[in-house]
Amino acid sequence: MEERTKSRLRKLPKIDELMLLLEKRDLVRQMPREFVREACRTAVDDLRRRILAADAEEAFSVPDLRTVADGVEERLADLRSPRLKRVVNATGVILHTNLGRAPLSREAVRRVAEVAGGYSNLEFDLEKGERGLRYDHVRDLLLVLTGAEEALVVNNNAAAVLLVLNTLAEGREAIVSRGELVEIGGEFRIPEVMEKSGVRLREVGSTNRTRLGDYERAVTEQTGMILKVHTSNFRILGFTEEVGISDLVALGGRAGIPVMHDLGSGCLIDLTPYGLEHEPTVREVVASGADVVTFSGDKLLGGPQAGIILGRRESLEQIRRNPLNRALRIDKLTLAALEATLAAYLEPDRALQEIRVLKSLTETLDAVRKRARRLMTLVRRSGLEGITLVLRSGVAMAGGGSLPARDIPTWLVGVKMAGLSPSSLGERLRRLPLPVVVRIADEEVLFDVRTLDESDLHAVRDALRTVSAT
Ligand SMILES: *Cc1c(COP(=O)(O)O)cnc(C)c1O
Repeated sequence: MEERTKSRLRKLPKIDELMLLLEKRDLVRQMPREFVREACRTAVDDLRRRILAADAEEAFSVPDLRTVADGVEERLADLRSPRLKRVVNATGVILHTNLGRAPLSREAVRRVAEVAGGYSNLEFDLEKGERGLRYDHVRDLLLVLTGAEEALVVNNNAAAVLLVLNTLAEGREAIVSRGELVEIGGEFRIPEVMEKSGVRLREVGSTNRTRLGDYERAVTEQTGMILKVHTSNFRILGFTEEVGISDLVALGGRAGIPVMHDLGSGCLIDLTPYGLEHEPTVREVVASGADVVTFSGDKLLGGPQAGIILGRRESLEQIRRNPLNRALRIDKLTLAALEATLAAYLEPDRALQEIRVLKSLTETLDAVRKRARRLMTLVRRSGLEGITLVLRSGVAMAGGGSLPARDIPTWLVGVKMAGLSPSSLGERLRRLPLPVVVRIADEEVLFDVRTLDESDLHAVRDALRTVSAT
């Protein structure tokens, strides 16, 4: 080892010396010593790594004791402030997977807070005074809203798919079209989930065309299920053919094999009157007679992360009793939010107003434009200097693997700030205590107003004010 490096390592602060300094500071005095010692150790280890990584010739000065102690104190202080926090979504991606997908309605938030802060009848039948089922809180709503015979909810839709496959087809084959072997994102690929569920994949047809005959020929003694998967985040266009769920249900009936449809997003309201692409509603799919239908709680439904399983009574009873269900079960906060979200759908007009995802998707372009104008007025009135605002038309996106083929028209406010590149403006907005996440295109920061609600407008104005003042 180079002499320079050795001498730098000798200058590393000692843990005990750091502790002596830190124990005099208020923030640290209340914390158990092990926590502080651990933080000191991490800081010194980091420093040692940096010294070893640095070239001996490079200028590198080992910080003094006080500086390292300040760093440790800052890190401990940081732990107290939330890392998971609200952000303002100005990207125009309505179901933004990285920004927490669907924001809950006000009522759903209220119900979560109410249930979270106390005891609840989660698994207690208040009428009979005996043990109840957690699923019962949303069951009746789901049956009314979808026409299904029975309903069950789990942690998310990936869990729903895993659980259904494992219950109904473990050790046997599930027939799936090659055009539907989708990857939903990162770790969710249909073939891999199947393998984990103990079901063998029996691919049929080709990427772009699969016919009923392909399914028919694949049915053997080994077949445990016919599975149809919504392609969610992509479309195959051109020379294509797929088999509708009704034909698969008929085939399943003839062969005595259950048919499952993983709908992915699962829409309860027909959105075509609002200019959106036709998506069969959950009710339509249930009516087609599929034995099991699964979809997410936090995609087009606009509620909390959850997996909803609908279908025939016998199948669902089997699924509920699968020990895997215990590992994938839904928690009480999710249930509270899901119940409130579903209840809003009893009055579809109310759902379109209260459920933010639906509101963002269906709001008229004119209403978006008016809000964009209000944002511009708010910012202009705050008298910021060196800022230019432009109103632009553009396209927003549904995101979250739903309605991929349809552009949603929107209005954006383009912002330029003198002396700040768009990427530094974007970065500063992201680093605020209430971060604002924007789009950047053509040397301009863009605020897509379709994903901003009225109260976000003030937050954006304040964010721009703070950035311009620093
Ligand atoms: C999104 C999606 C899933 C996974 O749902 P999560 O709620 O994210 O677990 C599964 N299947 C399809 C078809 C999907 O679109």
